[in-house]
Amino acid sequence: MALAAAHIIIAIFILDLFRHYVFGKKKFPRYLLIVGGIAGLGPDIDVILTWILNFITGNSDNLHGTFTHSFFFVSVFLVIALFFHYQKDKKWARIFYVISAGWLVHLFLDWLYGEYKFLFWPFPTPMSIFPNTGIVNYAIEIDAIILVLWLVHEEIYSKIKDYY
Ligand SMILES: [Zn+2]
Repeated sequence: MALAAAHIIIAIFILDLFRHYVFGKKKFPRYLLIVGGIAGLGPDIDVILTWILNFITGNSDNLHGTFTHSFFFVSVFLVIALFFHYQKDKKWARIFYVISAGWLVHLFLDWLYGEYKFLFWPFPTPMSIFPNTGIVNYAIEIDAIILVLWLVHEEIYSKIKDYY
């Protein structure tokens, strides 16, 4: 699978672009990037759910890549966001919009890595929609590169901020 750093940092990076160029910092406070970054790892909670389930049942089932890796989950967060939106609760609406977005970025990355996931859960997902790029073989290297790029970016970015 695409590894943790890639999931978190790419979600933050994409959200950060939207923060800078679309929404502006007022509408998009910085903490939402953290929320989005964690949501970017969110679908992999099924790994932990699998441990818990097997611990309880004593079986060796595998939930990984099933319901949490689906547009269904993305939609649930979106519906919650819309609910808060219409309640005029901007703060919680934004939080759930960002969770939904971070979750979606995760699905996109897994898809890009060519990993079979139940994207349309509970319906079957055609195998043919997954690209066969072979990127997945470089998951560890990609993770390392992304992490380094991120550190460099943060360093440069905070230097730029020092001028103001
Ligand atoms: Zn995943």
